[in-house]
Amino acid sequence: MATLPVLVLNSGSSSIKFSVYEAAGSERRKLFEGEVEDIGANARENRGKFWIKSYAQDANGTKLVDEAPVVPDLDAGFALIAKALKQPPFPPPAAIGHRMVCGGPTVTENQRLTPELIDEMERYTAFAPLHTPVAIYIMRQVLREFPDVPNFVCLDSYFHRNLRPVARQLPIPEAYSAMGIRRFGAHGLSCESIVAHLQPYVPARLIVAHLGNGASISAILDGQSIDTSMGLTPTGGIISGSRTGDIDPGVLLYILRDLAGRATSTVDAANQLEKIVNKQSGLLGVSKLTNDMRSLRRAIAEGNADARLAVDEFTYSIRKFIGSYVAVLGGLDMLVFTGGIGENDSATRAEICAGLEPLGILLDPTLNQARGEAKISASGSSATVLVIPPAEDLMIVNHVCRLLKEQLETQQ
Ligand code: AMP
Repeated sequence: MATLPVLVLNSGSSSIKFSVYEAAGSERRKLFEGEVEDIGANARENRGKFWIKSYAQDANGTKLVDEAPVVPDLDAGFALIAKALKQPPFPPPAAIGHRMVCGGPTVTENQRLTPELIDEMERYTAFAPLHTPVAIYIMRQVLREFPDVPNFVCLDSYFHRNLRPVARQLPIPEAYSAMGIRRFGAHGLSCESIVAHLQPYVPARLIVAHLGNGASISAILDGQSIDTSMGLTPTGGIISGSRTGDIDPGVLLYILRDLAGRATSTVDAANQLEKIVNKQSGLLGVSKLTNDMRSLRRAIAEGNADARLAVDEFTYSIRKFIGSYVAVLGGLDMLVFTGGIGENDSATRAEICAGLEPLGILLDPTLNQARGEAKISASGSSATVLVIPPAEDLMIVNHVCRLLKEQLETQQ
């Protein structure tokens, strides 16, 4: 059976991550992963972090690279990765998969990447303004650097493509709906990986709480996403690290009018508003301290009341969404926590679930101390509560292999 090395690229707003898998039939083996972090002028002396781990000998990963290079911009960050990937021990990739949060209303299926497709997705940068510019940049660079390798785009919005009309359609005038303004959701690759992990015993009524720097809740019925908290953009839904989540539109109008007096143009005012709702709000805005949960927990332990309020607002907004999704699903069989906070922060999990006993959610305080994959519900809980790490890159490899196979079949 042929083994295919598949390269996966998954970028954040100031980081470029990659992994390399070996795919043979339905077998998948992670060979390498790496990241350039803290790209950009905000990092001290423009120094970022560059690391690569190999899983060939050690399941925990042997560090091949661990450096603090100067990475003032994306060009410098990408150059480090491109140079490394073109040398041994990296196998030349047979295919490359790119994570994309949202491709816009015309690109809703995972598919082969072309320059024209990139141009089309770029028209909808405003639908994921923190993520799309870097993803688009990397796609163009990779097509240039690896011109003979098939590239594929894998969308977070793909898993939410069949949302129910009541969840998908936003209550706005038809002119805007016709422009493609609707709920797309995000974290789809994470949710999809949870459903794949649970196979063949996917519970009928499942809620996935992906709690990381960005955070979302999804209602999944019989393995299909029927509603999700993020909206047109990842700014909507529950409060997250530095994003507002859902907010009274009157607040946005108030801030916009306030900015308009000082902005140089309407676009400038809109850009400033975008920065406020995406980068200065959420846990950071309320705590006035940080968007990072570990730092917030330390501040709470030292008696910081703003940090306490920020985390309380976070867990309160999650509790409200879980309650509403139990109503949407007509009950609950399983709740899964995932993402950096969902996997690691037992206090957040306990605070979210406190008071959810009437919905059949009861944590076992000892089991809840777990980190990584675990069952954390008490024996008397009618819904099973699990912690499962997301496997977005693995999902991308699966999509890439399926698309490659389909492509070969149509060529025959
Ligand atoms: P992610 O975006 O999935 O990488 O998650 C980032 C978030 O997870 C940040 O708020 C981190 O502070 C949080 N996080 C990571 N590890 C821990 C941990 N051990 N305890 C609490 N929060 C954590």
